[in-house]
Amino acid sequence: MKTWFNPFIKSECLRTRARLTSYLDCELSDKEQQELKLHLKSCQSCCEEYNSLRQTISLLQHMPEIRSEHTFRIDEKNVTKKTCDRKLLILSRTAAVVAIILVLVCIGDLGHLFTPTGDSPLGGQFWLVRGVELGLLVALIVLISCILVELHRQRKR
Ligand SMILES: [Zn+2]
Repeated sequence: MKTWFNPFIKSECLRTRARLTSYLDCELSDKEQQELKLHLKSCQSCCEEYNSLRQTISLLQHMPEIRSEHTFRIDEKNVTKKTCDRKLLILSRTAAVVAIILVLVCIGDLGHLFTPTGDSPLGGQFWLVRGVELGLLVALIVLISCILVELHRQRKR
């Protein structure tokens, strides 16, 4: 193949070598095949190139097929499962954080932490604290529902 870079190689040889693969693959027209055969008979260098290429192809065709133990194919099921696992993890963590905040707010509320001294329990921050507790409770219920729905979906797969 180093003859490809030889600046003194004849243009006919370059043309022939460019078409050797096509010739071996029977992709040339009858006229082109005749021209190529004629050149191979008259040019020893191109003939050697042709024989070398033919032998290489033959060797490659007789090589045993090697199968890899590892595949790089991405399994769609795996990807879906990982996405679902991640979604479930995020939902669980968020639910845990919301539950902890709710428990802390409830403990604070029971210990009258949010009721300033002298203030009536029905005024001031009473409704705000109840609103926060209710909001956290609703959020927790929604999150737990989402987790249950996700678990049910995963079990179906
Ligand atoms: Zn030649």
